[in-house]
Amino acid sequence: MGRKVVLVVEDERPIRDMLAFNLGRAGYEVKAAANGRDARAAIADCFPDVILMDWMLPDISGLELTRQLKRDPDTREIPVIMVTARVAEDDRVTGLEGGADDYVSKPFSPRELIARIRAALRRGAGNEEDVATAGLLKLDSGSHRVSVGDSEISLGPTEYRLLEFFMNHPERVYSRGQLLDRVWGGNVYVEERTVDVHIRRLRKALTPFGYQTFIRTVRGAGYRFSPELS
Ligand code: CA
Repeated sequence: MGRKVVLVVEDERPIRDMLAFNLGRAGYEVKAAANGRDARAAIADCFPDVILMDWMLPDISGLELTRQLKRDPDTREIPVIMVTARVAEDDRVTGLEGGADDYVSKPFSPRELIARIRAALRRGAGNEEDVATAGLLKLDSGSHRVSVGDSEISLGPTEYRLLEFFMNHPERVYSRGQLLDRVWGGNVYVEERTVDVHIRRLRKALTPFGYQTFIRTVRGAGYRFSPELS
């Protein structure tokens, strides 16, 4: 199996080099472009598996370039992760409306970024098997099965959806309100402490395998799924 190709579109050389170094070490083949024009040439040339797109580029905004890529049937399937120094929630929404598949704010840790790339590749895998893993923990969206090795874990429907959401969105903090929106859906009225109840149940189900620690409580902020890297 060939290595996955990540195209890094970033005009700041130190950041580009840092990303290339870390992604190379994580096993990806890295292509780099310093502006929109070079990015387009690189995309036509190597057809990357995922694109890390800086927001502020010298010749075009990363957001506009992403819009163009998502309008083009040849490139619309390539997952784009927007990388930006802007941290406002508004920008996150704008980035995603522009067609970006995910969004990372500077400064970010290489570990966070790699987790997000993995998740983007998994979501973009389309007809490949829809299996998320973290350590030995495996979630199969096709069969709705969760297992650790040979042992199946039986989860309630809400705990299952929570775990599925976490495994596909690792290394990012979600508030209780955001989890309610994303996992329960915005159209139901549920109190925020309900989230805690289901987190507790999910942790309990994972405890026999020692994976309850993957679900971290971030004081004053919410929860984060952080699988230990093996
Ligand atoms: Ca820039």
